[in-house]
Amino acid sequence: MATFALVLAVFKEEDERVSLEGLTMGTSYQIQLLEVPGEEDPGVLADEVQTILSRLDREIFSTYAPDSELSRLNNHAVGRPFAVSREMLDVLMLADSVFSSTSGAFDPTVGSLVNLWGFGSRVSLTAASIPDSKDVEEALSRVGFEHLVIDEARSEVVKTRDVMIDLSAIAKGYTVDHIGRLLDEQGSDSYFIEIGGELKIKGVKADGSSWVPAIEAPNDRAFEVYEIFSNIGQSIAVAGSGDYRNYFEVDGVRYSHEIDPRTGRPVRHHLAAAYVIADSVALADALATAYMVMGEEFAFAHAEERGIAVFLIAREGDAFAERISSAFKPYLDGQ
Ligand code: ADP
Ligand code: MG
Repeated sequence: MATFALVLAVFKEEDERVSLEGLTMGTSYQIQLLEVPGEEDPGVLADEVQTILSRLDREIFSTYAPDSELSRLNNHAVGRPFAVSREMLDVLMLADSVFSSTSGAFDPTVGSLVNLWGFGSRVSLTAASIPDSKDVEEALSRVGFEHLVIDEARSEVVKTRDVMIDLSAIAKGYTVDHIGRLLDEQGSDSYFIEIGGELKIKGVKADGSSWVPAIEAPNDRAFEVYEIFSNIGQSIAVAGSGDYRNYFEVDGVRYSHEIDPRTGRPVRHHLAAAYVIADSVALADALATAYMVMGEEFAFAHAEERGIAVFLIAREGDAFAERISSAFKPYLDGQ
């Protein structure tokens, strides 16, 4: 059912550590920091985080809330300018650059296809059925980020076709960046921020050790560590995308929630997960999705050409094989 993201911030303090957690953007979030910077009251910080989450989720990027800015843009008439918020403009401009650099593999106008394939609502995906080709063609005719003209100076966008925008593959990352900026401004030099697996970490923990990101094995069983990265920087932004949490299966074929905008169909290749480290979590988030769409070979070539840090995990029968770009190698111990 379409539900609004619910923000349930639980506040607790243990070993000088502050932890906030709850639900947002249809998933969970977790924030940990060494201490609340300055004289800030932890309760005030929790309120500030909640304000950001509810603004970016329910008010701006939600595909579920009928009055979110995104829903209003989706319902807005074709050919008429629509004034966008600063945050929407930021995300659409970044989306546009990833759309171009990935030759359209990342394309947030896949919304009509996401709904057609049953990934738009939070119902159990096993109930999903395979749409017929005519419906896929019809939905596909409404896909293409080039049908969205962005006027940065005026902070306006115009749809030149009736596209349905879905920012689920970038909004979580953008929100993590936003919370990171709040904590930076408050002088926090050590934190861990995660929304649905997209994360930003900075500094060191109370015992002097680094926050270390671990990635999970790409299967839908309980969390199992697959690989642990070393944290070589003061600050790191990581996002992952996979076909093993959000998918349905029909006749032994796995249909994942990553849609190939060229075919109008869920991607079907043996890439199981892609983890990207980038300057911002929003960029890492978008690229991880693009890489899942591009598949192992194209993703790897794209990353190598541009010096992007990616860790790809492909299925080989019942086993996994990994492909690690040069820029990622420093994040792995002993390589
Ligand atoms: P997760 O939500 O598991 O982190 P992603 O970041 O890859 O995964 O986002 C997947 C979501 O992005 C899908 O559920 C869908 O809403 C949207 N999406 C699917 N295919 C594309 C695509 N080719 N380009 C942009 N967004 C997509
Ligand atoms: Mg993504």
